[in-house]
Amino acid sequence: MGSDGNGPKMDESKRDMRVPFLDLQAQYRSIREDIDSAIAEVIRTSRFITGSEETKFERLFADSLRLPYAVGCSCGTSAIYIALKALRMPQKAEVIVPAMTYIATAEAVSLAGARPIFVDVEADTGLIDFEAMTRAVTSKTWGVIPVHLYGQMVDMPRFAAFAEEKGLRLLEDAAQAHAAEYRGQRSGSLSDAAAFSFFPGKNLGAYGDAGAIVTRDRRMAEWVRQYRNHGRLDKYKHEFVGFNFRLDGLQAAVLQAKLPHLERWTERRRAVAARYRTAFGRAGIRCLVERPQARHVYHLFVIRHPERDRLRKALADSRIECGIHYPIPLHLQPAYKSCGQQPGSLPESEALAREVLSLPIDPELSDAQVEYVIQQICAHA
Ligand SMILES: *Cc1c(COP(=O)(O)O)cnc(C)c1O
Repeated sequence: MGSDGNGPKMDESKRDMRVPFLDLQAQYRSIREDIDSAIAEVIRTSRFITGSEETKFERLFADSLRLPYAVGCSCGTSAIYIALKALRMPQKAEVIVPAMTYIATAEAVSLAGARPIFVDVEADTGLIDFEAMTRAVTSKTWGVIPVHLYGQMVDMPRFAAFAEEKGLRLLEDAAQAHAAEYRGQRSGSLSDAAAFSFFPGKNLGAYGDAGAIVTRDRRMAEWVRQYRNHGRLDKYKHEFVGFNFRLDGLQAAVLQAKLPHLERWTERRRAVAARYRTAFGRAGIRCLVERPQARHVYHLFVIRHPERDRLRKALADSRIECGIHYPIPLHLQPAYKSCGQQPGSLPESEALAREVLSLPIDPELSDAQVEYVIQQICAHA
């Protein structure tokens, strides 16, 4: 899949070669019948909300992670927020998060009434730095949210042992890491819970917003299921004040249709990453590191380059679309001015923000497109 052995030879097609960062239309074309019939069935039965699609997807997703419970919800950001509520995070508590992540990780903490404390990340992986995390712990620290950035899990056994020793809560932001593993374990197995996003561009994406919380804890799963549906006990009785954070039936049906393809898509991402690594290793281009204990699922394939903006422009001129994840670390975002951290305070995050470039790694890329990216990067880097 994705390979293009019968396609035109690269030299003939190079002039009009084009490499999108993400091609959701190509993915749709490859699974069109499954998607169309899944959507049609939801419309036919008109079970749009709290129907059986949601429950079926939750079961399949939990099984795929080898965990007992998954609860669907409205998006990845709400999944983090709901998990914090479920864990009874106290108001004004401190929660340690990496500075190099999508803003949602910190936003959920803020919305739930606590303070995100930003810490630096590792230069070679971009993942939250364990030592920096330990140094940020104070008497007010309630928990830590490690982010499995770019699709690579952090060293969860190490974080879990530390959290246990210090009595801290541990919530994984697994929004970029569907089916990722660390020492054979998947997200949610060594923490209080893990939050997933099914934003359309994620490795497993819905056709709109969607998310899920996974946990081993039955009582937590039950509370979350009730909370996301107005604290409801039955149709008319509400046991506590919850909210509407439900996963809708159409999204659940799309996710069910896509889940059986996730392994194949992940393998294709890993194969493209391996090809990039071999080629860039030879050319001396600096890739972020894949740890040997990790099964990296390559939501993003990230390189570092001192002239990142020039390289990105050159690639755009060659019709190769790249991304930057992320150009501004969270402690320097205007939204988090209140954290009081100045430029220079988290040097590794700031250096990454200047240098990272995310290359196309969509599973739908053809081999010819991958070779074209390699050739153009080696020519311009
Ligand atoms: C995408 C993402 C989220 C938020 O997910 P949404 O479904 O867009 O709300 C949270 N954290 C990280 C690291 C993400 O990449």
